Amino acid sequence: MQDLHVLVAGAGIGGLTAALALQRAGIKVSVYEQAPVLGEVGAGLTLASNASRILRHLGLGAVLDDLAVVPERGAVKHYRTGRTLVDIPRGTTQVERFGAPYCQIHRNDLHQALVAAVRSAAPDCLRLGCTLEDFGQDERGVTALFANGRTARGDLLVGCDGIRSTVRARLFGTEDPRFTGYVAWRGLVPMERLSASLVVPDSAVWIGPGHFLTRYKIRRGELLNYIAIARTSSWVEEGWSVRSTVDSLLAEFRDFEPTARSILMATPPDQCFKWGIFDRDPLPAWSAGRVTLLGDAAHPTTPFLGQGAAMAVEDGMVLARAVAAAGTVEEALARYEKARVARANGVLVASRENGLNLTTTDPDRYDEAAHRNEESLDLASYDAVTVAV
Ligand SMILES: Cc1cc2nc3c(=O)[nH]c(=O)nc-3n(C[C@H](O)[C@H](O)[C@H](O)COP(=O)(O)OP(=O)(O)OC[C@H]3O[C@@H](n4cnc5c(N)ncnc54)[C@H](O)[C@@H]3O)c2cc1C
Repeated sequence: MQDLHVLVAGAGIGGLTAALALQRAGIKVSVYEQAPVLGEVGAGLTLASNASRILRHLGLGAVLDDLAVVPERGAVKHYRTGRTLVDIPRGTTQVERFGAPYCQIHRNDLHQALVAAVRSAAPDCLRLGCTLEDFGQDERGVTALFANGRTARGDLLVGCDGIRSTVRARLFGTEDPRFTGYVAWRGLVPMERLSASLVVPDSAVWIGPGHFLTRYKIRRGELLNYIAIARTSSWVEEGWSVRSTVDSLLAEFRDFEPTARSILMATPPDQCFKWGIFDRDPLPAWSAGRVTLLGDAAHPTTPFLGQGAAMAVEDGMVLARAVAAAGTVEEALARYEKARVARANGVLVASRENGLNLTTTDPDRYDEAAHRNEESLDLASYDAVTVAV
């Protein structure tokens, strides 16, 4: 198995974490990404202790220390009054409890760090402009076919190609993702546009009927990232780069208290985006023969627990350990699924449920007992570096 060659389709957070963990285990990897160039797309990601622990283990501790923000406290607030309904200790408390910090980072900062790390282990392992279209497999290996006419031969193919995964469609059918009934705006506000008193504590969410707003600092505290979510009956576009306007966002969140609205109002016009939130029903299995799924391709998860990227990171770590521990590819994938399917599907369902909890519970009655997060659901203690595979 040490001579194995693993093909990874998709260089998102999941594909790159898997590639880095496989490289660290001494296994050859080639990563194929459809994008011709890697640009700065997206905004904030939450990395609870269960995710930051893995990235540190893989050697990215210095990048997290430099660029991620570790909030000292979090708060759940009442949308109309701004009253704190739940106070959440983060910072050193989380490190003491879980051995790694809860942190928040610009997706692009993490993405660039992963790209640099996999390239430094193997300079030519990342191939851009390669859209996987199909694959074939036999008892000796798997062949990937790309839209540009190239092919690649390996022992194992990992579909890390996101919510609209081609690998998933080939394995399990072409059903479209499910519109969850939520539309989300995301924005990035430079902190110099805000007075510091508007951002206390440094991580917070507001809950109101059918509406939810979360905001937190990223990139050394230079930027404030927010996601503002509203329930809707109409279908909304997918994608991370669909532009919106601050006026339409303010109209939707007109009942929110002045502090929350001041943050939205400070959004630079070119930094307001809108997208529909989609997920899929859990799959009971992710693999067939020498091909498997990872991250959003396997279990696209809504943002209501801040665990979507964390699940992809956990998958990558566990897959590499399963491959390193197994005698055959089939055994590796059986070990991977045994360790991961129930966990990731459980988080997918819990995140859906938490969306309802946050947008339908009467904020006047919302308290610590009603609140669900990575700690109350015991998600943060999971250790993908040591869990049995
Ligand atoms: C551009 C972008 C911006 C995002 N911004 C945010 C954000 O601001 N906040 C947030 O919480 N989450 C964001 N996400 C989602 C978040 O990164 C993922 O939900 C999570 O990290 C799981 O990652 P993943 O690697 O499984 O999937 P993704 O991050 O979706 O990565 C999938 C990768 O596969 C590539 N790909 C797709 N199809 C093919 C194919 N056929 N062949 C080859 N490559 C293919 C895609 O280009 C992409 O690079 C973003 C995702 C993307 C792709």
